[in-house]
Amino acid sequence: MRVTDSVTKGAFGQFGFRGLEKWILGVLLVSSIIASRSFGGSNGLLSQKTQDALLKELSGERGLDYVTMISRFERIQASEGWRNAALYVKSQLDKVGYTDAHIEGWPSNGETWYYTWQTPIGWRARSATLWMLEPYQKKLGDYEEIPNSLVKHSGPADVTAELVDVGSGVDSKEYDGKDVRGKIVMGFAYSGDVAREAIKKRRAVGMVTYIPQWDRKDHPDLLQYTAIWPRWSERDSLGFGFNVSKYDAQELLSPLRGGKKVVLKAKVDSDFYESQIEMLTATIRGSAYPDQEIVLCGHLDHPQPSANDNASGSAGLLEMARALRTLIDRGEIDPPKRTIRFLWVSEYYGTVAYLKAHPEFGKRTIAAINCDMIGEDLKKTDSYFCATRTPDSRPSFLNEVIEYFVKLTATLSISELRGSAAPFNYRIVPYAGGSDHYFFNDASIGVPSMMLGHPDPYHHTAQDTPDKVDPTELKRVCFIAAGSAWFMANASDAETERLLLELYRGSLERFVADVTNAEAAMYSTQTPDDLFASYKDALNVVKWSGRREVKSLQSAGVLAASAHTKEHIDESATNLKRFEQTQEIGIKEFYERLCKEQGVPPRKVELTSEEQAATGTIPIRSETFKCPLGDGYLVQKLGRELVDSLPSLTGDAAWEAVNFVDGKRSLMEVYGAVKAEYGEISLQRLKNYFSLLEKAGLISLGSK
Ligand SMILES: [Zn+2]
Repeated sequence: MRVTDSVTKGAFGQFGFRGLEKWILGVLLVSSIIASRSFGGSNGLLSQKTQDALLKELSGERGLDYVTMISRFERIQASEGWRNAALYVKSQLDKVGYTDAHIEGWPSNGETWYYTWQTPIGWRARSATLWMLEPYQKKLGDYEEIPNSLVKHSGPADVTAELVDVGSGVDSKEYDGKDVRGKIVMGFAYSGDVAREAIKKRRAVGMVTYIPQWDRKDHPDLLQYTAIWPRWSERDSLGFGFNVSKYDAQELLSPLRGGKKVVLKAKVDSDFYESQIEMLTATIRGSAYPDQEIVLCGHLDHPQPSANDNASGSAGLLEMARALRTLIDRGEIDPPKRTIRFLWVSEYYGTVAYLKAHPEFGKRTIAAINCDMIGEDLKKTDSYFCATRTPDSRPSFLNEVIEYFVKLTATLSISELRGSAAPFNYRIVPYAGGSDHYFFNDASIGVPSMMLGHPDPYHHTAQDTPDKVDPTELKRVCFIAAGSAWFMANASDAETERLLLELYRGSLERFVADVTNAEAAMYSTQTPDDLFASYKDALNVVKWSGRREVKSLQSAGVLAASAHTKEHIDESATNLKRFEQTQEIGIKEFYERLCKEQGVPPRKVELTSEEQAATGTIPIRSETFKCPLGDGYLVQKLGRELVDSLPSLTGDAAWEAVNFVDGKRSLMEVYGAVKAEYGEISLQRLKNYFSLLEKAGLISLGSK
């Protein structure tokens, strides 16, 4: 869970944490039976020989070379540039001996749907320029110089028109008293939204958009990547757009605000077409269980250059594919027992089309590692490496495997000739979406998936260039991903037994951290009512955190071959359950003690009438509702008015709520699960969300 309450000394402060003593002792006892952590070599998840072979062959320098090549392509989803980049990657795979590398594609035209996602339109631009003519002449953008100057999906244009400042460009009040017909508007909201408000609705001819002043304040020169994403029927009604930097935006806004006229001349040579959304895939076939797969994936898109996002992930996959194939062919490592599949995806839209075309994916795939932005130069991008865990609805051994390799990497001295000497700086972070692991983790697909990446102020801008990719960091992340994939592809009984130690330790650590946070929240309450509420929360956390960790241990069963190892996994799970039960008792005792200190009687746990009602409702996910809910689907299906009239859960918490729907759990249980993971959420908002999903035919709400 993500509760980050700081421990403040509340009304009960003077009495201390005595209630915690018992379980802290318990943890120490359990921990002492676990062997001390030793990284790498014969005590680790890989043999010394395999570890050395991987470190010797994987090359961040080659990776950087691939990044530079891929970053030359203007490769947004469903574009010719995407296909050309994929053909380049495929040619490299062919060269090192992959015989099954191939591109698969499905219609993509701004019209066709894959589940709740409508495909992007095909679009290409040949040239585009934007000039200021008045008050003085200045070139503001040139597609052939910097492709991000042009908003993607801009229609053809050849116009000279006055510029009008419309603030964000999406609030109707900003248009009061302004006639934008035939003019070019200037706004800082997302281009696609400005186009619909200013151009489609109010008949402006085009737009100039820029990053709002408060966003990335230290970087006023960034030129962002934005797109219009038109439906096929909208393609002639959304005009054109150019992006300018904050510097240039200021230069345009000052004369406008001083009452001066600004005149721009825009020329765009572009067109729309019915395209395909595509995926490139290749495999190393498993020697023992070819139908079980470990997936290494990364999205090949974004516009030129998009070096870290995500030429780095695409290049990293290619380098891992090359190194593993080479080492196997030379006999330096064993071929994998399970199949390793490499997937270069078209972010979101290609992934959903692929999952629809391959309904077997969820059954055959044991785990997926999503490489998205893996090459950041930590100094140049002020960044650190992040391994993003699976959501609480999908606990998995994958978390422990990746964490093991991350920590191992921190002990190794990896450095490349042209790479940085910066020390490895990493964090293991709770689940967040934002890339293709979001699709794999969805309950309807059911594949545990982690993302490896870096936060980066340059992402989605023209400044995301190959000079910000560090071959040293790229090699580190390739080692983490390839090492993890190879381990999972080969794990059998002995490897699973070894992994079980990591799993047990991780489960205990996380469970204890969650219980500590919950007890700390109880401890710092100020009133009996708050204490009672946080006591209920703490019991809820113990329940769901406990469930998550037991499932996490049990997930390793898929790697085990013998009944003996499976039994061992069950025993560990039973042990953990027993420990969790003692914590529930500990929390009750802690509550009673805190009540006593305050001189109030302890209350029995009971549900509010709203919660009582929610226990009688059973949400059921519709058979045809697969993959996460498409962005904007509810608005398109039900209308803006209805959606806005029911303020509902949004973001990752909304998605997780659907993941916890299993046809048996009540609405109240789903609420408890999401609350344990995300902290305070509103039951009313959850009910509203499910009611919208029901109206859209995506779930039904039965009664007990
Ligand atoms: Zn990305």
